[in-house]
This record gives sequence, structure tokens and C-alpha cells, in this order.
Amino acid sequence: MSAGAIHDLSSDPRQGERSVDVLIIGSGCAGATAARALARAGREVLVLEEGGDLTGQKLTQRDGRMYDQLYQDRGGRMTSDLTMAVLQGRVLGGSAVINASDVVPLSDEVLRFWQRKHGLTDYSVEHLEPHRHQALADLRATPIPEEQVNRANRLLREGAAKIGAKGEVMLNNRVGCQGLGTCLIGCPIGAKQNPRVVAIPDALAAGATFLCRARAVRIDDASAELKRVSVRVLDANGYHEVGGFTVRARVVIMAASAVNSTQLVLRSGLGNQHAGKHLSLQPQLGIVARFREQVTPFRGIPQAYAVTEGERFDDERGLWGFRVEAIMGTPGIIASLLPRLGAEVMGAMAAYPQLAASLVLVPDEPSGTVGLTKAGRVRIDYEHKDNHKERLREGAKLAARCYLAAGAYEVEVPMHRPVVVTSERDLALIDAIPFEPCTAPLMSAHQQGGLRMAASEAEGACAQNGLLYGTRDVYCFDAALYPSSSSSHTQAPILATASFLSERLLAKG
Ligand SMILES: Cc1cc2nc3c(=O)[nH]c(=O)nc-3n(C[C@H](O)[C@H](O)[C@H](O)COP(=O)(O)OP(=O)(O)OC[C@H]3O[C@@H](n4cnc5c(N)ncnc54)[C@H](O)[C@@H]3O)c2cc1C
Ligand code: SF4
Repeated sequence: MSAGAIHDLSSDPRQGERSVDVLIIGSGCAGATAARALARAGREVLVLEEGGDLTGQKLTQRDGRMYDQLYQDRGGRMTSDLTMAVLQGRVLGGSAVINASDVVPLSDEVLRFWQRKHGLTDYSVEHLEPHRHQALADLRATPIPEEQVNRANRLLREGAAKIGAKGEVMLNNRVGCQGLGTCLIGCPIGAKQNPRVVAIPDALAAGATFLCRARAVRIDDASAELKRVSVRVLDANGYHEVGGFTVRARVVIMAASAVNSTQLVLRSGLGNQHAGKHLSLQPQLGIVARFREQVTPFRGIPQAYAVTEGERFDDERGLWGFRVEAIMGTPGIIASLLPRLGAEVMGAMAAYPQLAASLVLVPDEPSGTVGLTKAGRVRIDYEHKDNHKERLREGAKLAARCYLAAGAYEVEVPMHRPVVVTSERDLALIDAIPFEPCTAPLMSAHQQGGLRMAASEAEGACAQNGLLYGTRDVYCFDAALYPSSSSSHTQAPILATASFLSERLLAKG
């Protein structure tokens, strides 16, 4: 078997029609895992990726250019009411190239919940066990070493210990991390064990071909033996469509992320009444603490410690409660989170070295939808339930208490009118936050649902093997399938379920 290759089509946009056995759309955790499994089994595999291939020094650690190149909609994707930034990757290797490298596996509890509540009988702990194991092996998952827990993370931990709140240093997927601190805009030394570093080289060695700057826009003949997928070629920056061609494939696997796989189904006029529904966004709310000491939060691993005191499992709703996780970003993202203009931003950013920050993460009810604008672009509507808001307030208060106990002189919830807490007496101010649309810097990094899988067509858009109902061999292998939050961090679950689904596809022949 000959090795595969990566081609950037922007330098050669005039492509002719292609035919292939298996076409995979998206090269992230889901797509790369499937590409490797199927190519190793001898299947002819072609992967389309609308992002570019950025590794090593192409990951320049410069905010502007990197958000532009590595994120969907250049980092500007939002819910339709402008309440929540919806962050997703757009690069060979997918969102894991720009994620925070925390590893929280798909738990037994979640699998049992999916079986009990959603009738997903195939998703037993026994069936998934080897695939969960494979996911952790691919991630080279290990606990973050104590010496790599930076001061900002330690302050959250110290505060949690002082008020008696439970927490943990997380698992991560870094090998040889030098603590450069720019994980959210890519790791220039390749320390993060993401698909670009692990599954894609394996898939290439097994003969898979990857086409970059190739955007799938429509699937036709979805019930025929040979499907027809229309592809647009993008320019070198990924801004403009400069060419187009068609791929004919026997099997089509959508692995373009929860939001984009759903978009593709809707653009293609496919899917039943569940397509586009049941979207979870897992809202996250930023909290900023100011200290008098030099915290230097931008050095070292940005997200290492989580306060898990508020996390719980709800028998009716699945993963529930909230987590508070330390985080830090590059100057661009921190400045954009602080609700100030002009000189005030400069003033606030002058204190960047003395900041610590965290995110309150809420595993939500699937209360969002993916739709299309008239131009066929993604439209995300999201109902922000009262219980989400309540849990965000509880999490924000817990974060504030931790930071105050650790010595912060003030803690800010960076609303459009900032809520500033300087002592426990002020916590009632957080209780009063209404979370009206467009007032808080909420963000989503773990989109799930949109093409929910179910045991029957009456309950979901896809079958348990990922097959999109109403089609022949058009599958979804990513988090669009999940009927509820799979984990507080989605990369390990997606790697596991994509491996499981690949095995099932191969067993079908
Ligand atoms: C900022 C951030 C931080 C995160 N932190 C963590 C973390 O610490 N731990 C964790 O476990 N998870 C984290 N996540 C989530 C996790 O990284 C993702 O859930 C996971 O990587 C998604 O994998 P995927 O394969 O489903 O989709 P993606 O990785 O998003 O891959 C989809 C790929 O498909 C491409 N694509 C989309 N549409 C098309 C199309 N029409 N044609 C061709 N290609 C297309 C995209 O460009 C993209 O590269 C984070 C995510 C973000 C954004
Ligand atoms: S902190 Fe580690 S993993 Fe993150 S970008 Fe820096 S070297 Fe890479």
C-alpha cells in the first residue's frame, strides 16, 4: 500500500471530478479517527478539510492572524442573539489544534444514562471500553505534573482549599510541553497530542488522502449507491471560494463538528424533523480576579485546575451542576473579554500580569437549534434556560469566593456593566445578574447535538451507528450525534465514539 498525502487545493483550484470509496468531511477528532481506522482496514479514504495545514512555525502565536486562520468565522461565530461566542476550529486536525488540552473521558454514568434515557442500547460500557481506552492512548493522557501547574491555577486551588471546595488537577494530552501558554492559538512545538500529531500521520501512513481548503457544501443522491458531494475550493487564506469540483463516494462520513455537520445536512435538504434540533452549547462564563502579586498567568499551561465541588449527575438530565476551571488566554482574547473601550482597555490590560481567570462551565439542556440563513450560512439559536443562568450564578459565586480566599483584592464578572466583588458581602451582586441577551461574555467550546442519534427515526436524526435516517450510507461520526452532554470536555468522548462507529462500519462491510 502506498502512503497517502496532504494537498492544499488553494494552489491548484481547478480540480476534476473524483471518485472514492469513503469520503470523510472534516479532519478533527472524529474525522481523523475514522480516516485512520478505515484506511488501516484497506479502504480507500479521502478527507476534505476546509482549513489549512498549520503546524510548527506557521503557528505564529500572534493573536490576530491565528484566530483568523484557526477558528471558524475567524473566531466571530456567535449565537443569533449575540449572547454566546461559539468557538470551533478550522484547520487540519480540527478544534483539538486550538483546544485547552484537558482530558475528561466519557464516563460510565453518561453511557448508562444514554442507554436508560435515550434507548442507545449499543452504547454499553462493555462496547465502548476498548474505544475509550484507545482515545486515552491516542491522547497520551496523563495528569498535569505538579511543576507545570502555574501560579494562576495554584491561586484557584489555594482558594478552593481554604473554603473547603473540592477540586482536581486535570488530565491532559501534552508531551514535552514547554509552557509557552498559547494552546488556544495552537502549539508551535507540537506538544499537544491532537489528531494532526497522532491520527493524521497514522492515516497518511495507511494511505488516506487529505485535501485542505476544500469545503463540502452539499450532498446529493443521498439514497443512491454513489453519493455526489459538491466541494468548493478556498483561497490560501480560506476567505473566498476560487474553484469547485464533485466527489462521488459510496460512503460519506460527516465529521465536520456538531454545528457544521448539521449545517451540511440542512444545506443538502436532508434529515428528518430532528435535524438541527437538540443542540447543547455548554455555556461558559469568564471570571477575572485581580491580585497585587505578579501572577504571570500567560506563562505555563493555561487550564490545569478545576473546582469540581458543584459538579453532579442528574438521573433525569445527565451531566449537571457546574465546574470552575482556571484559564488564561493571549492578550487578544483577554482584552476582548474585558468590557471596556479605548484607553480603559489599555488600563485594564496593564494589569494583565496580575490577573487570574477562570471559566464557569455548565452542562446544559440541549436547548439550541442549528439553522440556515438565506445565504446558507450557519444560524445558531439558543434558549438560555433559567437553570443554566442559576448554575452560572452559583459557579461565579464559588469562583469569587475561591479568589477572595486566595488574596484577590477584587473579582470581576465582566458583564457589559462589570459586576465587581471585593468581599463575601458583595456576592449578592452576582445573584442579581439577569443574563439578558448580549450582556455577558459567554462562550461555547463544546457543541453537541444537532443530529441526535436515537433507537428510532421518531426520536432522532441518526441511528445508533451514525447513519443519517433517510439516506444510504451517509453517516455522522461527530458530537452532533450526542443526545446530552458527553463530558465537560469533548475531545476524549469524540475520539472514543468515532473509533466505535468506525469499527461498526467496518463490521458492516
Ligand atoms: C477553544 C476551544 C477549547 C477547547 N478545549 C477543550 C479541552 O481542553 N478539552 C477537550 O476535551 N475539548 C476541548 N474543546 C472541544 C474539543 O476540542 C472539540 O469538541 C473536538 O475537538 C471536536 O472534534 P470534531 O472532530 O467533532 O470537530 P472539529 O475538531 O471541529 O473538526 C471539524 C473539522 O471539519 C472542518 N469542516 C467544517 N465544515 C466543513 C465542511 N463543510 N467541509 C470541509 N471541512 C469542514 C473544520 O474546519 C474542522 O477542522 C475545545 C474547543 C475549543 C474550540
Ligand atoms: S502550554 Fe505547552 S502545549 Fe500549550 S502551546 Fe505552550 S508548549 Fe504547547
